[in-house]
Amino acid sequence: MSTYQEIVDREQKFLLNTYARYPLAIARGKGVYVFDVEGRRYLDFLTGLGVNALGHAHPRIVKVIRDQAAKVIHVSNLYYNEYQGLLAEKLCTASGLDRAFFSNSGTEAIEGALKLVRAAGHAVGGPEKSVVIALDNSFHGRTMGALALTGQPKYRKDFDPMLEGVRFVPRNDVEALRAAMDEKVCAIVLEPIQGEGGIQESSREFLQACREQADQHQAALIFDEIQCGLGRTGQLFAFQHFGVTPDVVCVAKPLAAGLPLGAFLAKEQFAQHITPGKHGTTFGGGPLTCRVALEYLAILEDENLLERVRRVGGYFAQKLHEFVGKFDIAVEVRGVGAIQALQLNIPGKPVMDGALANGLLINVTQENVLRFLTPFLLEERHVDKGVRILRKQLAAAQKQAKAEKKAAAV
Ligand SMILES: *Cc1c(COP(=O)(O)O)cnc(C)c1O
Repeated sequence: MSTYQEIVDREQKFLLNTYARYPLAIARGKGVYVFDVEGRRYLDFLTGLGVNALGHAHPRIVKVIRDQAAKVIHVSNLYYNEYQGLLAEKLCTASGLDRAFFSNSGTEAIEGALKLVRAAGHAVGGPEKSVVIALDNSFHGRTMGALALTGQPKYRKDFDPMLEGVRFVPRNDVEALRAAMDEKVCAIVLEPIQGEGGIQESSREFLQACREQADQHQAALIFDEIQCGLGRTGQLFAFQHFGVTPDVVCVAKPLAAGLPLGAFLAKEQFAQHITPGKHGTTFGGGPLTCRVALEYLAILEDENLLERVRRVGGYFAQKLHEFVGKFDIAVEVRGVGAIQALQLNIPGKPVMDGALANGLLINVTQENVLRFLTPFLLEERHVDKGVRILRKQLAAAQKQAKAEKKAAAV
């Protein structure tokens, strides 16, 4: 076994310099906890960026991975396998959509959805019908198509030229949406709750306006539920929480409990425009990942986890609201269920660092938003424990901010 420092030094020498990692090397996990290479325990309020919804080492997930790995892991999409169709059936039935395509990641689900809506657009309106409306402050992934839909300059800079034909509008701005629509639009794409953008929710009125505008212009409404979907809101699909049904929905993060699997689901009206040869993948939809995803969905039902997400998420929200009353630096609570945030008016990094040093994993987006993507297994007692750690860190950060202000004034 390597020491923490050996692990860090090796990565810094040999890996592409893509990540400013937090100072933690994780060796294993159990339930809502992870353990570092020195055996210290951390409460996990980030779940590998929304992936480990069932926590770590769930016995049923371990069992199906063992069993399926010994049978067959990969067959390619040249052949049938038992589990891809079963998983598609389950997701289509639960969403009310008609057909699924399986990818290896969220960004690939977005890429596939983008190809689908362009093909459908061209079929009804010719090659001109290819414009996609996306939202400011969005995040849809890092490949060129998904990046072109991502309305944050920091992710796009250095990589121009982008894919043509994307128009951005501000979230919840119905007038701007209407003004951006015309016969060239083939799709509107949005996250019902922007994740990386700081846990920013769309209003029901805005989502309804998107639904109406898409219908009026023969365009597809695509929901990117890669972060907020598959149970995080307390409903299986985030669109069920908002009561507006999209034509296409993209999911990924928790789908195969940590194995790479994404999907988009589409209504037949759009899905029919993809025929053999137009899209595909080598790895996506293999028997191992699909069987694990079926187990993930079965566990949500058997353990009644969506009910738990709603209950414990409500309890956590209440505690976060108490912080807003107590600390001047805490200004707003956003989100629902297992996707929540505390907006600060100072940088969140010292709070995150302090939480890590005291055994709690969270992260910061947009400089001053503390983001919580909690495991669905969370119980009230875990919330209490996390809140105790957060309270101490918020108090320390507030004290520091006040001292700095005072020093600047003299
Ligand atoms: C994470 C994320 C993606 C990209 O998914 P990858 O699996 O990292 O490719 C796309 N959209 C949203 C909303 C995400 O949170």
